[in-house]
Amino acid sequence: MIDVLVIGGGNAALCAALMAREAGASVLLLEAAPREWRGGNSMHTRNLRCMHDAPQDVLVDAYPEEEFWQDLLKVTGGATDEKLARLVIRASSTCRPWMRRHGVRFQPSLSGALHTARTNAFFMGGGKALVNAYYRSAEALGVRIRYDARVEGLQLRDGQFLAAWVGDERIEARSCVLAAGGFESNREWLCDAWGRNAAGEWPADNFIIRGTRFNTGTLLRFMKEAGADMIGDPTQAHMVAVDARAPLYDGGICTRIDCVSLGVVVNRDAERFYDEGEDFWPKRYAIWGRLVAQQPGQVAYSVIDAKAVGRFMPPVFPGTKAESLPQLARALGLDEARFMRTINAYNDACRPGSFNHTVLDDCTTAGLAPPKTHWARPIDTPPFFGYALRPGVTFTYLGLKVDDTAAVRFGGEPSANLFVAGEMMAGNVLGKGYTAGVGMSIGTAFGRIAGTHAARAALEERRHAAA
Ligand SMILES: Cc1cc2nc3c(=O)[nH]c(=O)nc-3n(C[C@H](O)[C@H](O)[C@H](O)COP(=O)(O)OP(=O)(O)OC[C@H]3O[C@@H](n4cnc5c(N)ncnc54)[C@H](O)[C@@H]3O)c2cc1C
Repeated sequence: MIDVLVIGGGNAALCAALMAREAGASVLLLEAAPREWRGGNSMHTRNLRCMHDAPQDVLVDAYPEEEFWQDLLKVTGGATDEKLARLVIRASSTCRPWMRRHGVRFQPSLSGALHTARTNAFFMGGGKALVNAYYRSAEALGVRIRYDARVEGLQLRDGQFLAAWVGDERIEARSCVLAAGGFESNREWLCDAWGRNAAGEWPADNFIIRGTRFNTGTLLRFMKEAGADMIGDPTQAHMVAVDARAPLYDGGICTRIDCVSLGVVVNRDAERFYDEGEDFWPKRYAIWGRLVAQQPGQVAYSVIDAKAVGRFMPPVFPGTKAESLPQLARALGLDEARFMRTINAYNDACRPGSFNHTVLDDCTTAGLAPPKTHWARPIDTPPFFGYALRPGVTFTYLGLKVDDTAAVRFGGEPSANLFVAGEMMAGNVLGKGYTAGVGMSIGTAFGRIAGTHAARAALEERRHAAA
């Protein structure tokens, strides 16, 4: 019998598999995706948020524990478990030598990235290179890997793991780590969670999934029905505004539209609906997916003029371009008269100031609702550009409740041999909101903890059986 079964094939699963193997356990990893699509959402990542008290290779200055904790506290509005959060934060300061040993390489923050040179270590080659390095290292260490191996259910007894089902095949193991991601690719479940709006629409029908199609939440649902302690709310998800032309799955980071704070955003009725200049774009970009989801037809249009060009990371596909604003309205399929009313009202409300996109400047609107509180400059310089936006779901927050051993819990009791890591438990630390790079910090910390404890449980069981 295998010692440790790891279910999932992204960062958390790979960290768990590597740790369990290093601890002397035999390990089998089951990845639902085929080999060419392996790596889950982790393959789309770029960086990991790291605590450090002094400059560390690619990280400048310092990012102490307390500051990291305050950042987390702020974005979650308190929906976080301090003990587990601090565990993740501390682990983020020591995990990189281990990551390097398994082939992960780092590079300084990219220019145009979200002001992250101090806080985030970037993976050379991105998340794809990271998961490839981990798979290579796992194979070299003797971890067995099976692709196209979607686990549909588990056999549990009194909170203990016995076996997993892949189709009709029953796979036994002494212990198990669940690391199968969230449920963001399960449209039916998203529709259930989001429900129907007042206009009779199912908003989730228009969501684009930024990452893998394989995170369907099969095991989350299974565990919920099996009575595991859950954490989080199924309507909470990290959502950003993405290019409406993005593919339904796996568009990744390049589908983001980053010019929102430089212009205005209107909905299908050509009305503005939120302060585009509320705060720095890195702090606010993750609210726009949800804002667009609340608009009719779940679509919106980011509109800029020539003054904004060169001030944001250009999207992959060019925007709709026009030499006049009425022409732009027509090209975007918006009501021309209403669009012009909205833009004229905005332009008239812009107060003169000193434009500076790197600070919360004094370019603001007066007497406009909603206001634009920074970087408000008239949209008056051709050519004009428009980008259609859709809600892009990064990942969901519903998960399994854990303690610091990563054990799954039933009625408050930790399982002796069933553990969980990554998105499936990230809600313990990140109940809502987001701060860039923390998904990988959580997955790396808890993947390693889960792997260590799963190996310990399995080896103990093996010794016990042999005695
Ligand atoms: C576009 C994008 C960019 C991101 N950028 C960053 C970033 O730069 N930094 C950061 O910290 N976070 C980032 N994130 C979030 C990050 O991807 C997640 O926090 C992290 O990857 C979660 O790791 P995981 O191992 O839990 O899940 P995943 O990497 O999603 O892995 C889940 C795995 O489980 C497999 N699986 C699912 N169901 C089953 C099943 N039933 N049986 C077997 N296998 C199954 C999947 O195929 C997949 O391999 C980004 C996410 C996206 C979508």
